[in-house]
Amino acid sequence: MKSNSTAPSLFQDRRLAREHRTIAAMIHIYCQKKHGSRRRQLCSECQEMLEYATVRLEKCPFGGEKSTCANCAVHCYRPDMRQRVREIMRFAGPYMMFRHPYLSFMHLVVDSRRPAPELSATRKKA
Ligand SMILES: [Zn+2]
Repeated sequence: MKSNSTAPSLFQDRRLAREHRTIAAMIHIYCQKKHGSRRRQLCSECQEMLEYATVRLEKCPFGGEKSTCANCAVHCYRPDMRQRVREIMRFAGPYMMFRHPYLSFMHLVVDSRRPAPELSATRKKA
């Protein structure tokens, strides 16, 4: 049984780390409410979703400069996974406001206002 899915320090970049905490929290809420999982546990389907989302985030070409995925020009999710994550976000969004107000605020107010960077701009790293 895996319980380390929300373990910190997977991402060096603070923004990516926060983004990862956000998606992990949403998947946990979804799984608890929809699939009856216990706190801090995920069913195999949601575990797969979280692992997939983690890999996508790791491979995001924008790194810490990224916008929210909804605003991004590059749709890197597989269509079926994209469908699943959208459903999870729609479902978990309202709960996030209460359970993780800081993460929600940052995601909705700060990150989503950030324009999606041009792909070419990410090549020249500071
Ligand atoms: Zn589940």
